[in-house]
Amino acid sequence: MSKTLFEKIAAREIPTQIVFEDDLVLAIRDINPQAPTHLLIFPKKPVPRIAEAAPADHQLLGHLLLKAAEVAEKAGLNQSGYRLVINNGPAGGETVPHLHCHILGGRQLIWPPG
Ligand code: AMP
Repeated sequence: MSKTLFEKIAAREIPTQIVFEDDLVLAIRDINPQAPTHLLIFPKKPVPRIAEAAPADHQLLGHLLLKAAEVAEKAGLNQSGYRLVINNGPAGGETVPHLHCHILGGRQLIWPPG
């Protein structure tokens, strides 16, 4: 099976700005930022999307969220606040079929989202 974009990034086959990495997850700068700080954090394991995560992934998903909060704190977003977003499927705005969580901050984000 061919590698996903984020698997290629994790394998250093596509250059990117890495902000955090451990054996389970990678956090990078989004190439098309929608806020002054726009990071992506994803599991190295290519879970396609949250709807396809399995019960066996529950520890990995907890790790992903805890690391997202850690990365956001290190990016200086704790005091102002930030948003974590997971897009799922076409209507959710998903364009990369490899589960990832957006970390958005550095400006006032509006609700409801567009
Ligand atoms: P989504 O639309 O939720 O699937 O998010 C995919 C995100 O990946 C978008 O915000 C893109 O800007 C971002 N993206 C696509 N290609 C790259 C890349 N090579 N490096 C960093 N971010 C990327």
